[in-house]
Amino acid sequence: MKMDEKCQICGKPAKRFLFATFVCDDEECIEKARAERGGPGGHKKREISEILRNR
Ligand SMILES: [Zn+2]
Repeated sequence: MKMDEKCQICGKPAKRFLFATFVCDDEECIEKARAERGGPGGHKKREISEILRNR
């Protein structure tokens, strides 16, 4: 699949379409896209990571 879109966070060529946003492979961009979207998946993942940290 060819993608002409650019990462909407950093402007590099996009590799993925996540959270209704084109992003590259950079985890920071993915995190930012998710934060902007504010989806329930992000919230869930944050809760899980806090549970793990508190063990
Ligand atoms: Zn990016």
